[in-house]
Amino acid sequence: MSRVVQPSKIVCVGRNYADHAKELGNPMPKEPLIFLKPASAVIGDGEAIVLPPQSKKVEHESEIAVVIGARLRQVSEVEALKGVAGITCANDVTARDLQKTDGQWTRAKGFDTFCPVGPRVVPLKDIGDLAKLEVQCRVNGQVRQRGRAADMAFPIPKVLSYISHIMTLEPGDLVLTGTPAGIGPLVAGDVVEVEVSGVGVLRNPVVGS
Ligand code: ZN
Repeated sequence: MSRVVQPSKIVCVGRNYADHAKELGNPMPKEPLIFLKPASAVIGDGEAIVLPPQSKKVEHESEIAVVIGARLRQVSEVEALKGVAGITCANDVTARDLQKTDGQWTRAKGFDTFCPVGPRVVPLKDIGDLAKLEVQCRVNGQVRQRGRAADMAFPIPKVLSYISHIMTLEPGDLVLTGTPAGIGPLVAGDVVEVEVSGVGVLRNPVVGS
């Protein structure tokens, strides 16, 4: 149980895989659709995701996460990559019912424990081609999601450059790059795993509150 990051903020990309946008009946955005999760939501590998009493439908979103290594402000795609510390696994846990009723996503995405991250950060030089990264989600050993970075509408360098023209990314900040199709419910007693190729497996039990 260790937390591998302590971000000042977590910037997430919504609808970055066409198949996921489709499963929720959403059109694909023309520019990256970004939102924030609070840093207080972060937990490490092995820590429990706590289901909040306010929601009846909490879902997993397995994502490739970028850990920022240098201050990035108004940078190009090439410069952005030079400022990346590494890649890790993340789960953008979401209260889907509250996301719909609230109309904006702060509550649905912001509960404590709703951002498992880990188990380690792998430097870019050991990752190689970012477009070859794959992400998978398993619940109780069953595969729920499979995605490839090559299928992202907005590739990682573009996302980082785009965000840096809006807000300065600080060392330690996290960028969650979107989830592929196959999102599904989490219930107490589940064990959810997010695996990113070349990084490892992020494993978290799910408990009731
Ligand atoms: Zn997400």
